[in-house]
Amino acid sequence: MKPVVGAGDIPAKGDYRLDRARVPRTLIEGDDSTGGTDELAMVSITVGSDGRIAAIGPTGEVVGGVDIGGRVLLPTFVDAHTHLDKGHIWSRQPNPDGTFVGALEATGADRLANWTAEDVRARMEFGLKSAYAHGTSAIRTHLDSIAPQHRISWPVFGEVRAEWAGRIDLQAVPLFGIDRALDADLMAETEELSAPYGGPLGAVAYWIDELQDGLDALFRLASETGRDLDFHVDETLDPASQCLGAIAETALRFRFEGKILCGHCCSIAVQDDAIVAKTLDKVAEAGIGVVSLPMCNMYLQDRHAGRTPRQRGVTLLHEMKARGIPVMVASDNTRDPFYAYGDLDMWEVYRTATRAAHLDHPIDNWIEAATCAPADLMGLSDAGRFKAGAPADFIIFRGRSWSEILSRAESDRIVVRQGRSIDRMLPDYGELDAVVGPPAME
Ligand SMILES: [Zn+2]
Repeated sequence: MKPVVGAGDIPAKGDYRLDRARVPRTLIEGDDSTGGTDELAMVSITVGSDGRIAAIGPTGEVVGGVDIGGRVLLPTFVDAHTHLDKGHIWSRQPNPDGTFVGALEATGADRLANWTAEDVRARMEFGLKSAYAHGTSAIRTHLDSIAPQHRISWPVFGEVRAEWAGRIDLQAVPLFGIDRALDADLMAETEELSAPYGGPLGAVAYWIDELQDGLDALFRLASETGRDLDFHVDETLDPASQCLGAIAETALRFRFEGKILCGHCCSIAVQDDAIVAKTLDKVAEAGIGVVSLPMCNMYLQDRHAGRTPRQRGVTLLHEMKARGIPVMVASDNTRDPFYAYGDLDMWEVYRTATRAAHLDHPIDNWIEAATCAPADLMGLSDAGRFKAGAPADFIIFRGRSWSEILSRAESDRIVVRQGRSIDRMLPDYGELDAVVGPPAME
């Protein structure tokens, strides 16, 4: 019989060791042994009384520590693309037809009517409580930043970010269409509001006449201010939309030194092989990272009433990874008109990505896409990996193999933060009734 380990078996104080823990070898910092593909290494992990990982032992023998019984441990997740300001408005503002246009219009109307500081704060906090309980320790969110919303949402973000420090590291990116980058007043205000938090600048890059001028303006500002960049890119299955290549060319022309993350990149999945190869070569040369949002893409892309979707809208993760492009997966929207479901559970995201994009056979080091790859892109060198000296932030799964953990939601996973197991109770949906109202009665 394997020992059964519950949250109560993790010591609440002092130092301790976990024996017979399986961890992906690719996530052990400083482990240069190549191992095989899919390899889970059996290790012992020593946690210091300061809540940091003191040592990661090479063997998994039981030598007096807590016997984990060969269960899989992953570092806490890093969610590189979310929309905390939009989350959970569904009960008062659903998407009427599930389309992208329906999402834009419904969200715009709700923002104008309802997004007070109190409303935004309540929904942001709900999302963060869920993410924390599921085992996420760092989140980047986009914030709708056209006037007058920017002066409401950014101060709320600043307060929430300070309150959640130590539980979830928060970064935010201003969000508006790329043509707004040509509005000098808005850009000055955006810089003023967002610069104190040090996150990237950003915009939605879509195929319009102003695309190149907008990109130039944004790259110029980011270069002058030392900010990173984060774009929504080609969120469409129209093959004529080739913003990803335009961003890569602009980055190379500017010799841009900051980090760049491009989200979505759906249209490249339906472009000709020659265009794809040319674009991805430039993306690799420019050092751009790409984040796929598979749950949102499958919901919005190729949706036509009465017709079964033929395309998934998920970007070319395998081709990108093969070129050395940093690739990652993330949540995107939660219970808002862009995605009717979701709970900021990165384990759901990773399991969905595995199925949607065949991140298996071999599983290889794909788990980096939910852990150390987004951590690196966000400049968090201690997150998303097992590293001596780093905070002991990890998740203990019930399963002992990739097959076992990928087959279940693992709702009974144990989340350990700074060495201690946390209360994983999810917030009750009723908490939001005061701001979004209860669900309509059938
Ligand atoms: Zn997004």
